[in-house]
Amino acid sequence: MPEQVERRVEELESHWKALQGPLSGVSGIGKSFLRYLHAMDIHKVEDLLYHFPRRYLDRRKLSRIGDVRIGEDTTVVGTVRSADLNRIARNRSVLNVAIFDGSAYLYGVWFNQPYHADRLEPGTEVAFSGRVQYRRGRLQMVNPAYDILDDVGDVGSKTVHTGRIIPLHPATQKLSAAMLRRLIMRTLDQFGDLPDHIPYGLRLRYGYPHRSQALREMHFPGSSGRLNRARQRMAYDELLVMQVALAMRRQRLKSETPGIAHAAPGGIVESLIASLPFKLTAGQERAFEEISRDMSEPYPMNRLLQGEVGSGKTVVALMALLLTLENGHQGAIMAPTEVLAEQHFANITGLLAGGLGLRVELLTGNTTAARRREILEAASSGGLDILVGTHALIQGDVEFKSLGLIVVDEQHRFGLRQRMLLKEKGFCPDTLIMTATPIPRTLSLTLYGDLEVSVLDELPAGRAGTRTLVVGPDGREGAYDIIREELLKGRQAFVVCPLVDASPAVEAKAAEKEARELSRVFRGTNIGLLHGQMAKADKDKVMADFRACEVQLLVSTTVIEVGIDVPNATVMMVENADRFGLSQLHQLRGRVGRGEHLSHSVFVFDGESEESQRRMRAIAEIEDGFNLAEADLEIRGEGSLFGTRQSGMPDLRVARLIRDFRLLKHARADAFELVERDPHLRDPEHLLLRLEVESRFRDNLEWLFNA
Ligand code: ADP
Ligand code: MG
Repeated sequence: MPEQVERRVEELESHWKALQGPLSGVSGIGKSFLRYLHAMDIHKVEDLLYHFPRRYLDRRKLSRIGDVRIGEDTTVVGTVRSADLNRIARNRSVLNVAIFDGSAYLYGVWFNQPYHADRLEPGTEVAFSGRVQYRRGRLQMVNPAYDILDDVGDVGSKTVHTGRIIPLHPATQKLSAAMLRRLIMRTLDQFGDLPDHIPYGLRLRYGYPHRSQALREMHFPGSSGRLNRARQRMAYDELLVMQVALAMRRQRLKSETPGIAHAAPGGIVESLIASLPFKLTAGQERAFEEISRDMSEPYPMNRLLQGEVGSGKTVVALMALLLTLENGHQGAIMAPTEVLAEQHFANITGLLAGGLGLRVELLTGNTTAARRREILEAASSGGLDILVGTHALIQGDVEFKSLGLIVVDEQHRFGLRQRMLLKEKGFCPDTLIMTATPIPRTLSLTLYGDLEVSVLDELPAGRAGTRTLVVGPDGREGAYDIIREELLKGRQAFVVCPLVDASPAVEAKAAEKEARELSRVFRGTNIGLLHGQMAKADKDKVMADFRACEVQLLVSTTVIEVGIDVPNATVMMVENADRFGLSQLHQLRGRVGRGEHLSHSVFVFDGESEESQRRMRAIAEIEDGFNLAEADLEIRGEGSLFGTRQSGMPDLRVARLIRDFRLLKHARADAFELVERDPHLRDPEHLLLRLEVESRFRDNLEWLFNA
């Protein structure tokens, strides 16, 4: 490396190290301050610089108290004139705080929260936000959100608190927004002069401000336009770093793990297709094409196959399995539960009924020891072609002669650990993950951004579909009428009981009670009961009876297995539907409408909250799983998406996937292109970006580097 470059690299590294340094490096932070900051999870200089305002008060847009409108949500600023605490009884009090802004008085009212008086002393300048009421001749807000604006301080020559746009940083009882404001201003002065990890070319392309400037504008915006630019840059920045990590992970998987380069599909796959009693949908053909293309590459496939229940994923998976057999390897299917493993086994042996002379075996907890030994022997000697089972089939003493493809049903439970397990055994099979959970684009580009994705977006012809009805408790009788009609036609119905938090035992009790009640409502109907407390044999019996139509109405807690396939069932009634997630409800309604008969899903709910209303409207109006998932994301917010350990991804600080979808797509394209050119980010121009990726993902380096 030329000396000049070397010096520059050293300089960049030392800058970066300063940011990663402890807060004690910020001048003027005392011990107690440090404690308060740590309590807010702010430990490094960088954490403080990236502790962005929760919102901003634009003084030009504030209402004068004299101009507020009753019933509106407003923010007003004034000086505290009085704070009166009335103790009514032990633990009961009313606090009235009057503020005045030269035009009128407004009262903040708090019940049983006397401590606010300590912070809202007369003379303090505050902002109150809340709904304006008019009571007993005065303007008031009950429990307003408030921010203390004063202890006006000038730091150096810059005015911190008196600008026209006032940042309100997330604060605590001990550390007010005003204190944070001053502290952050000081930190910016001391550390804010930073090199930028976004390569210059990209910054130029989008006209983004430099990192130093953007940081400043995030905290102390000069105008709303500049704030907006800064926010865009920060969001792009964050998404770019994430996408670079994903791109590096994918790259690593390709370059460092040898895989099996399968030949193009041939005779066995073709004879399966010829023997099927139906024609593949266009979606199935496309998905298999994508899969076989991946499988032909000399590195392991990592593909997600998503499609609603009944969209025909299993057939596609089977074709892929046959492809690996053609190439002289074995295949495995791993299901999350034994029931599902059994179902896959039945499906596959059914589809292979044409007889390709293949040996397919099922390995579950029910397999006898002797059978188990036999199966394991066949797997390791190569006498076995396809092994179906639960997680057990990649664990312990199971050995394959040559595992070419593993199909995993439901993505959540197959992660790094499983892949490592296989790797330790010397296998780097192609992996196909099937999921019936519709994953919106926003997530397949992020949470699952290191996987390739194939989508089956149409159901095979011949499905009558489902009509969704959302009713209040008074609509229950109507729902019973629908069930009665369907039963008369010889169809079957599911009734799913409310989710009970208390305990599985309580939930089971509730289900038993429901079943007793329904047996009064539907006299002469055979009613089955299914809940988590039942012995496995009893559960199996009930399910078998339901399949055989000896039970017509199945009352269950949510243990209804994903993927249960009873085409004659035409009603899905869910009690207390607002306690279920939207994707769960969508899965449940996917249980019916699978045959030739039009089906009904009835969701009974009595949720009052705004959110619950929105959710119910969404499930009633949106049929498509992807759009529903997107709506769900919007209603729930994205806060908790990445926090889960499992995802391997740090939370987003600024970016929001739905709002910033366009930025996400740009960031992804830019990141993948960049990593393509410089897979290990060795170019000095990418040094800071690499450091940034490593520090953002430091809790998940294993995730990042061990594909
Ligand atoms: P998934 O695994 O996506 O839930 P399956 O593969 O089990 O769906 O398919 C559901 C049912 O539809 C099965 O009975 C299967 O045989 C049938 N099926 C699959 N593909 C087609 C198709 N192209 N046309 C008609 N029926 C199909
Ligand atoms: Mg391959």
